[in-house]
Amino acid sequence: MRMEAWAQAAKEWAGARRRLRRTSAETSEPVCAFVYDLQGLKKHVSDTVGRLPAYCRMYYAMKANSDARLLTVIRPGVHGFEAASIGEVRKAREVDPDVPVIFGGPGKTDEELQQALRLGVERIHVESLHELRRLCYFADTLGLDITILLRINLPIELPQATLQMGGRATQFGMQESELHEAAAILAGQNRVRMAGFHLHNISNQLDAEAHLKLMEQYITWSRHQRELFGLSKIIVNAGGGIGVNYRQLDRQFDWYRFTEGLQRLGREHAEGVQLDFECGRYLTAFCGVYVTEVLDIKRNYNKAFAILRGGTQHFRLPVSWKHNHPFEVVPVESWPFPFPRPGIEHEKVTLVGQLCTPKDVFATDEPVRRLQCGDLVLFVLAGAYGWTISHHDFLSHPHPDMVYY
Ligand SMILES: *Cc1c(COP(=O)(O)O)cnc(C)c1O
Repeated sequence: MRMEAWAQAAKEWAGARRRLRRTSAETSEPVCAFVYDLQGLKKHVSDTVGRLPAYCRMYYAMKANSDARLLTVIRPGVHGFEAASIGEVRKAREVDPDVPVIFGGPGKTDEELQQALRLGVERIHVESLHELRRLCYFADTLGLDITILLRINLPIELPQATLQMGGRATQFGMQESELHEAAAILAGQNRVRMAGFHLHNISNQLDAEAHLKLMEQYITWSRHQRELFGLSKIIVNAGGGIGVNYRQLDRQFDWYRFTEGLQRLGREHAEGVQLDFECGRYLTAFCGVYVTEVLDIKRNYNKAFAILRGGTQHFRLPVSWKHNHPFEVVPVESWPFPFPRPGIEHEKVTLVGQLCTPKDVFATDEPVRRLQCGDLVLFVLAGAYGWTISHHDFLSHPHPDMVYY
């Protein structure tokens, strides 16, 4: 949905919510909800995945948003789901018992590795030599076969990324220098089949050309390692990390240019390579908004604050990324009280939630034309890493409604 459509939908929904409030004493709750556009999601996933060349596949990284309603919509548009815990593997299977699931993440427990083998996941991404040894052991004792990718933390510098997962010291993957030992471990067993590499060095990449260069580096490096593992074909999982621009909404990652480049890369460099993506943010960020009501407006030490229903316990993304989250004011005409309505005009305002901590901030010193108590504030790009990453029960406020269009 476009911004105007979101605003309209939020207004209609808030109106319905208020009518309900008037007819029932119990529902005196102010507006506060995540609203998802399922049709928009379906179209975005299909447009995005539809542009990939034939040697590429798309998985959805469930951790961005594992809401079952969203998963059901995404499922037909992608090759499979990427799960980062056994909990996510189970959620995936509830949506579709046959969906291919790849299982990654650091710190897999013995129980998780055995469950993954029993549940027949498509692949496991192995993050360390110790994990590799344990997996070989369990595959052997359970008598179950499994395909794996080795997650390698490649020494590639990525200065422009918001979050760097590799190319420097992080907890992810193993080092290039451990490859020979990995090959030796794998040579001594026959249940675990190594099929390629998992390389997810970057998060929130906004530059399509830079990302293409990275893909080329991933592919070239992976092809060089084939001999060591006796592989003619190889899977390269390039992770997720396609970014969403929260600062300039009209300057998003150029997926068209990226996929054009992938076509070229496929012709020139990718013989014998299956290139997999596991995107989270880029697939679901656009389909959701967090909409909430202004409870109070006040001035403190010459700064204007708007206190909103809910808070970062619902929507932690702006705090975790330390940014001002983009929003739109949806004016509401009605005012129920006989006394004046607090408001500001042509002023900068800091938008906060109800939590008793000064860190409960969505945006600082943002100019607004007009904002009044009872208006709605609509935070866009809230479909990924919103509700899912938040500490829901801090202060025991009610959870937001979940609304699906
Ligand atoms: C988080 C994560 C993803 C998804 O990343 P996005 O930035 O949401 O696309 C994919 N793969 C791995 C291993 C991850 O940790």
